[in-house]
Amino acid sequence: MTQATHSTTAATALTCKECGAEYELKATHVCEYCFGPLEVSYDYSQLQRTVTRQTIEAGPNSIWRYRPFLPVQTDNYIDVGTGMTPLLQANRLARRLGLKRLFIKNDAVNMPTLSFKDRVVSVALSRARELGFSTVSCASTGNLANSTAAIAAHAGLDCCVFIPADLEAGKVLGTLIYSPTVMAVQGNYDQVNRLCCEVANTHGWGFVNINLRPYYSEGSKTLGYEVAEQLGWQLPDHIVAPLASGSLFSKIYKGFQEFIKVGLVDEKAVRFSGAQADGCSPIAQAFAEGRDFINPVKPNTIAKSIAIGNPADGVYALEIARKTNGNIASVSDAEIIDGIKLLAETEGIFTETAGGTTIAVLKKLVEAGKIDPDETTVAYITGNGLKTQEAVQGYIGEPLTIEPKLDSFERAWERAQTLDRLEWQQVLV
Ligand SMILES: *Cc1c(COP(=O)(O)O)cnc(C)c1O
Ligand SMILES: [Zn+2]
Repeated sequence: MTQATHSTTAATALTCKECGAEYELKATHVCEYCFGPLEVSYDYSQLQRTVTRQTIEAGPNSIWRYRPFLPVQTDNYIDVGTGMTPLLQANRLARRLGLKRLFIKNDAVNMPTLSFKDRVVSVALSRARELGFSTVSCASTGNLANSTAAIAAHAGLDCCVFIPADLEAGKVLGTLIYSPTVMAVQGNYDQVNRLCCEVANTHGWGFVNINLRPYYSEGSKTLGYEVAEQLGWQLPDHIVAPLASGSLFSKIYKGFQEFIKVGLVDEKAVRFSGAQADGCSPIAQAFAEGRDFINPVKPNTIAKSIAIGNPADGVYALEIARKTNGNIASVSDAEIIDGIKLLAETEGIFTETAGGTTIAVLKKLVEAGKIDPDETTVAYITGNGLKTQEAVQGYIGEPLTIEPKLDSFERAWERAQTLDRLEWQQVLV
C-alpha cells in the first residue's frame, strides 16, 4: 500500500553501538572491528524539519505513520495494519494494585498475528524486500515465527522458520497455517539461534533477527511512539515491559528519546522497569547482583516466548533500567498464571505468559514500593492468551454443564450463588 502522506526515512547508516564505526544500510548486524551490535542511526535535523504531530496524525492508522523514523526507503513497505493498538486506562486493575493512573498498551490484539512481533517483522520484511531477499527466516520463541510466516505470505516471500520443538500447540499451528517450512529444533531457543547463525552464513537468507536485526529491532520503537501519541503527546512516568533479548525494552527507550530530540514531546525522565520469569532471568539476576554483564542461563519456565537464556541486548536493558531509576524483577510460574488471570478478571484482556509475567512483576514492584501510586504507569502487554492455552489449563475452572431445561438451569444458578467463585467453577451439575 502506498501512502502519499509525508517525507521519506531519515535513516542514514548502521552504527556500531560499542565503537561507533559506520556501515551502509545493508544486511549486516555485527561490527567488523569490535563485534558490537549495529543499530540504525538517523538525521535528526531532517526529522526536526519535516515531522510534526500533524504530519504523523495525518498518516496511516498503523506503524507506518512513523515512517520517517523507520529504516525503510521505498514506498513499497508492507502495511498489514500493524500497530496503533489500544492504550487502555486500566482503572479496575489500578484499584486492585493500589495505583492511580495505570494504562495497558494492548499488543495482544496487534495485527496480523496478535503479538508485538508484527511490528518488528513488518519493518524487517519491508527492508528484506528492498535488499532483494527472496527467502526470509527467523530463530523464534514462537510469536516471531507466527509473524514472519504470516507477513511473508502476504508479501509473497518464501519462508523457512526455526522454533524449539517444545513450543505451545497454538504457536506451532499459528505458524503452519501460512505454509512456510517449519524446522522444529530439538533444543532450546539459544541452540536454535546458534544454528540459525550458521544457516544465515551458508544460505543467503534474510533472517529477521540475525542479519536483518538492526531493521527488525527498530520496529519496537513504535511501541514508544504510540504510547506518547496516545497519551496526548506526553510521556508516562514509568513503564513496565517484558524482557527476552532485551531489544523491545531498549527500543521503547530509544523511541521516547527520539521524540524528545525531535521536539514532539516534552523532556521527561521516564523510569524503565523490566519483567522476567524466575525460570529464565539472566537480566534480573545481573540487576539484583549489581553486575554489568550477563551470565547466560538454561531456560525452564512456562513463559516460553521470553525464554532467552543468552540475551543479545541484555546489557543495554540493564543500563537503561539503572540509569532511569527503574527495576528488573522476576516472578515464578505460579505468579505468571495469577498475573494472566488478574488482567483477564479486572480488564477483560486475555494475555499470554509474557503478559502474565509483566502483570505479576508490576504487582510485585507496587507492593515493594518501587512504583509510586501517583506515577502514570504503562504496562506493555505483548501477546495473546489464546496462543498459550496450556499455561492456564486446569487453573480456570470448568463450565456448569446443564440440561436444556429451565429447572436444571435454576438449580445450577442457585448453587453457583452459594459457592464461592473458584469452587463453583469446578462443579459439574
Ligand atoms: C519476543 C517477545 C518479547 C520480548 O522480546 P525482546 O525484544 O527479545 O526482548 C516479549 N513478549 C512477547 C510476547 C514476545 O513474543
Ligand atoms: Zn564496533
